[in-house]
Amino acid sequence: MAKGRNELLRSIPGAGAALPATSHSGANEFASVASESFGNPTLTFNFWGRVQGLEYPSLSPEQQDEIRESFADDLARLKRWCIEAEWLPSHPPDELKIFVSDEYKISKSLMPASVGQRGRMEFPAWKVIAGEAAIAHELVHVYFPNGNRLLAEGLAIHLQAEIGGNPAFPNFGRPLHDVARELLVKMVPEFAAGDPKALDKIRLTDLDKIATPSPLRLRAGLNLYNDDAVGQAHIYPVVGSFVQFLIATYGLKTFRAVFEQTPLKPFARNPGSSDRWADAYGAALLDLEQKWKLKMSGRPVPA
Ligand SMILES: [Zn+2]
Repeated sequence: MAKGRNELLRSIPGAGAALPATSHSGANEFASVASESFGNPTLTFNFWGRVQGLEYPSLSPEQQDEIRESFADDLARLKRWCIEAEWLPSHPPDELKIFVSDEYKISKSLMPASVGQRGRMEFPAWKVIAGEAAIAHELVHVYFPNGNRLLAEGLAIHLQAEIGGNPAFPNFGRPLHDVARELLVKMVPEFAAGDPKALDKIRLTDLDKIATPSPLRLRAGLNLYNDDAVGQAHIYPVVGSFVQFLIATYGLKTFRAVFEQTPLKPFARNPGSSDRWADAYGAALLDLEQKWKLKMSGRPVPA
């Protein structure tokens, strides 16, 4: 058991988004397949708004130009990441319908995908104006939606941090691990001394049971971090940090092996079975979670 696990839990520092060791012609070939796979989606923007019963666009013409440009840039970045990671989206939508409105409180694209409207993306106008729209995050939901909410959000948060063109929720440009560590101390004050055992009060294994489109909820002792702005601001950096740890430590391919077992199917709820972690990593999610907690505590993580 231990030997098999060690073989599977190989450490691949920095292998997350490494360029594949392909020849130039091989890479070019893959790039053209990648372009085909992405297609050439039409980007339709909607800035509809209403004030005092009259139509009143949510953004100024200049702000509209800026968001169009940011979108094209982040889409190009995601394509490049897919080529480098050799991970292509399956059945991507032909059209991205982007709605920017004062009426939205949070950004959304996974929720629409879960009801069969993949490609519909909603952004609160104030976030766009502040330059904090999580464009890369929402694009990841469109191109890599997942039936397991922990995996869907984890990859989106990780890639927003890695390739996003602007700082955005939940870490706003700061390293995910730093933000997660700070929040863990807030959620579990005993963790301030750095004992990873204190983090037993937080169980990521609970998050793995949540199916899209249900929101992530996490208990820390008797406190429930819920589906509200404060709750999500605590949960999302933790989830992003964990997925970033998995990808950086064990490689993207292993993460992908788990991710691809729970494709998002509209109107279904499928978070996946807990066995799939052992199948891919040779270790239960709880073991991986404990290794991440060691990293958060600043202690060396065994290979
Ligand atoms: Zn999300």
